[in-house]
Amino acid sequence: MQVLEKEKKSSHEPSSAPIKIKAINVSFGYKDTEILKDINLEVREGEFLVLMGPSGSGKSTFLRLLADLEKPNSGEIIINNKNGISDIAVVFQDYSLFPWLTAEENIVLALKKRLKGKKSKKELFQLAEQYLTMVQLGHATKKYPGEMSGGMRQRAAIARALSVGSDLLLMDEPFGALDPITRIQLQELVLQINQDQKKTIIFVTHDAEEAIMLADSIVMFSPGPPGKILECIDVPFEKPINRNELFESREFIEFRDDLLQLMNKGIFEKLNQKEAVEDGGGI
Ligand code: ADP
Ligand code: MG
Repeated sequence: MQVLEKEKKSSHEPSSAPIKIKAINVSFGYKDTEILKDINLEVREGEFLVLMGPSGSGKSTFLRLLADLEKPNSGEIIINNKNGISDIAVVFQDYSLFPWLTAEENIVLALKKRLKGKKSKKELFQLAEQYLTMVQLGHATKKYPGEMSGGMRQRAAIARALSVGSDLLLMDEPFGALDPITRIQLQELVLQINQDQKKTIIFVTHDAEEAIMLADSIVMFSPGPPGKILECIDVPFEKPINRNELFESREFIEFRDDLLQLMNKGIFEKLNQKEAVEDGGGI
């Protein structure tokens, strides 16, 4: 990842993979409110990019723009050298499965849309089982979302996203509601998907440790509105990462603290601005 026209912080050699996504001077707003301003970035094929930033900084909005669910007011988003691409898979925090369908039926529905009459019903169910097995849910194909734990539902949501067949996966705080152990297991799963299936992943999180474990690079958004890119940081720890060793290392602690400081700096600046406006308004 690199922020255009900005110096990169890390000494890493830039990846030679082709550019997958390019956002050029992207701005977006609703009526009078500017939500995102002048977003410029490039994401390379196979990259794991994490978006961080306080609530309201426009991270979800940016994912919606990437998924072509919204259009920028100005600027351009180019994915695979094209404007607008509609079959991108998105995984949200609140499991977006249909509760009246079993795990496999949820996936068959997505597959039907993609394969439109090219496969028999039996083949579709076989494929659905393969996707569920990929996320270690081969034993739960017949379960309804209501019969599954939060972690299982998120695994099913990931399987459904994979079944869409896109090589780009967008994830919006997907593990925010999970307990710590399940969260770690699912982090390992998405790392494996990124590595084995060469998917480009854009992942939003508030959690600095999660960001460092997953990301090749981290984009920090400033508090909005309008949200802007504050900084883009390459993660200096080579994958695969040994979690325990990393978390005990001085390098990790310093890197994490810098990251949190960067996020807090933006928040404090915003608070100070707000106080100044409010004080001025009182005169
Ligand atoms: P984040 O995901 O970083 O928390 P969002 O992208 O959800 O931020 O929201 C960014 C800003 O856009 C927030 O100030 C939010 O209130 C505003 N916003 C989001 N959706 C709408 C909408 N449909 N209409 C007006 N404002 C919105
Ligand atoms: Mg959000």
